[in-house]
Amino acid sequence: PSPVNEVIPLRVRVIRYSKNRRLLVARDVTRVQRLERTRQDFVANVSHELRSPLTVVAGYLETLLDDEELDEMLSSQLSSMRSQTERMNRIVTDLMLLSRLESEDPAQSMADVVVPRVIDSIIDHARALSGSAEHVIELNVDPTLCLQGHETELYSAFSNLVFNAIRYTEPGGFIRVSWQRTDSGPVFSVEDSGAGIAPHHIPRLTERFYRVDTGRSRASGGTGLGLAIVKHVLLRHEGRLEIDSEPGKGSVFSCHFPAGRLGACLEAPAGAA
Ligand code: ADP
Repeated sequence: PSPVNEVIPLRVRVIRYSKNRRLLVARDVTRVQRLERTRQDFVANVSHELRSPLTVVAGYLETLLDDEELDEMLSSQLSSMRSQTERMNRIVTDLMLLSRLESEDPAQSMADVVVPRVIDSIIDHARALSGSAEHVIELNVDPTLCLQGHETELYSAFSNLVFNAIRYTEPGGFIRVSWQRTDSGPVFSVEDSGAGIAPHHIPRLTERFYRVDTGRSRASGGTGLGLAIVKHVLLRHEGRLEIDSEPGKGSVFSCHFPAGRLGACLEAPAGAA
């Protein structure tokens, strides 16, 4: 806030320009902040408004598809409509989650999260998602390591990374999920032996709807919002995302948290190791 008028937000930069000199630039960012809020509200409202009509359309499609005497061609068209409705639903759900992540106070409802238990549950879903592709999933999880955070948000972030590894790795490929303590703090990481990503894409991956291969993303049920969600969840937990990838060799996505966020695990969850 400006020292002369609290309602004016300022962005202040101090730039060193010779040995002992500094240039201080203060800029009124009222307009930028207002525009940003308008954008956030618009996305939140649009996604909220789309939800009800989508639910109605999905409901009618279900009813129509239940008809056992349905003509074969009509049945396949209705099935295709249902899968597109499901895709729209996933996009709307992700947009609503992103809006919440941007607007809610992160300090609310932070608690000790038993991350190994969260990982167990994600791995169950990942195996189901892998299905007949039979990826080899290896776990390297410290069962005593918990994190002060928001459980459902961490579930969203970590599951997006694990499900991406499944979706972008060929059948039978290798995936390793780790949750370990390092000198700088706890790290959650997902390594895969998938297609990898060319270096010029990496800085843009957390942008909304940025995709390296649009066809593959859509075909595998992607919304293009997964890594944007990961980035926002990490921001709210003072964490950062690191992406290490090489085309043809695979990728490692790691979430680094500050050591101060380590929580006390009261019980070591069964099966987590
Ligand atoms: P999507 O729903 O399209 O997967 P994301 O935001 O989760 O959206 O990811 C953005 C893009 O990053 C994806 O479209 C894909 O091209 C690339 N990507 C994400 N994870 C991986 C991975 N493990 N291996 C290769 N490419 C990946």
